[in-house]
Parts: sequence; structure tokens; C-alpha cells
Amino acid sequence: MEWKNFFSQQNKTFSLIAGPCSIESEEQLDKVASHIKQEGVTFLRGGVYKLRTNPSAFQGLGADAYELVKKIKAKTGLSFVAEVTDPRQMEDLDSFVDMIQVGSRNMYNYSLLKDLGKVAKPVLLKRGFSATIDEWVNAAEYIRAGGNPYVILCERGIRSFDNKTRNVLDLAAVSYLKQNTDFMVFVDPSHATGRRDLVIPMAKAAVVSGADGIMVEVHPEPAKALSDGPQALTFDDYTLLVSEIKSLLKLSQRELIQCL
Ligand code: PEP
Ligand code: MN
Repeated sequence: MEWKNFFSQQNKTFSLIAGPCSIESEEQLDKVASHIKQEGVTFLRGGVYKLRTNPSAFQGLGADAYELVKKIKAKTGLSFVAEVTDPRQMEDLDSFVDMIQVGSRNMYNYSLLKDLGKVAKPVLLKRGFSATIDEWVNAAEYIRAGGNPYVILCERGIRSFDNKTRNVLDLAAVSYLKQNTDFMVFVDPSHATGRRDLVIPMAKAAVVSGADGIMVEVHPEPAKALSDGPQALTFDDYTLLVSEIKSLLKLSQRELIQCL
């Protein structure tokens, strides 16, 4: 992957990251990867190590996911995005992760950010639940200062007083960052809303806000998902999402990057 090229195209192109919240089995990842590849996608995502609020909740397959991810990558040719939750995982993840995600819970983990400054792969930096835009940009600057220029900011909703949605999607922050910084900015409408019915409308709003890409969770059977089922798109939802995003992109002469 020519990351320099990818980052330099940022206002002409659009990226779509999709996949399950957690990788649960080879069959599950295979089904999701095949469907999203067929409909159109830029990167496959999948949680290997999960940071869950409840300690008894599913924590991810961990090392048991490594070989199955390699298999699905070889089969589909898709590049893969996964979260690093601890710097000790870096060496293992490096062999199959193409873009490294830093989760909301780790945005303030400056020693992790410093380590990622030394990595030659793009970092998708989620906004902390309660991070101001300045704190978030400073976290990104930690990675850049370490020598890694490839940082993407990902707005995933912030805490507020209303509980109808899981978080509050701050699209003004997206437009602000596009107008005032040179960062690529993605939006995650899945964690921002926590609700499948709001993912497509917020994904479309993200395109209009000027985002460079979106990340969505998809599951073959959301009701059986081991994490974040209520916000997972079904395969039919995903098909609809791609067609709606493509229509919107046409209006601004931007192209969906397929399968990097
Ligand atoms: C995720 O993308 O699966 C995730 C845990 O996101 P966040 O860190 O934004 O909660
Ligand atoms: Mn999730």
C-alpha cells in the first residue's frame, strides 16, 4: 500500500472501513468480508482485543484471531484495520494489521501514542469520549512528533446528557478539523449512535460534513453478536449504505476507494 498517495488524495476520495465489532469466528469474518467486498469497501475492520466497560463481557479472541485474519486477508485481498489496546501487542499485530486503531479509551495513552510515532503504518485515532478538539489534535501530534505522518482522526461521538443515543456525534468538529487542520478525518456513526437505524443517516451526514471516510460495524446476525449488536448493520443495510454513499459522493465528484 502506497500510504503517501492515499493521504495526498484526501479531498478527492472517500474511504469506507467496515467489519464486525469483534471477530468471533472464521465463518463470521469470512461472511462479512465477502459481503462488503462484493458491495464495495476500502478496508476490513475487526476487533481482536476488545476494551469492554464490563469486565465479564467478551474481550475478543486475542491471539486466536491472528491466523484466521491472515486467511481472510489472503482470500479477499482486503487490507485490515484493528485496534491495539496495549503496546505489548504491537509486534504480533504488525504481521497482519495494515492500519492501527487507537480506541477512544486510549486516546490519552501518551506512551502508546509515542510508540505509534515509530510505526510505518497509518493510525486511526478515535476521539476520547470527553476529549476537546484540542486534546484530540494534541494526541495526534504526539504520533506525528514521533515521526509517523500518517494519522487519521476518527470522530466517534462524545458523552452528553441524553441517553437516546449512545453518544452525541459531533459533526461540527469534523467540518472544523477539515477547515482548520491538515488531518484526514473519518466518522464512526456506529459507536456515535449505538443504533442501527441511525447509522445510515449519520453516515450520509458525515459525507456532507466533509469527512474523508467512515467506519461502520457489520454483522451477519446482529442479534447474536458478542459485542455491539444493536448498532451492527445487517448485510442488506450495508448494501443500502454503499449505494446511498456513492450517490452522495457523485455530487461532490469524489470517488469511493475500493479494496486497498
Ligand atoms: C471499536 O471501534 O470497536 C471501538 C471500541 O470503538 P471506540 O474506541 O470508539 O469505543
Ligand atoms: Mn464496537
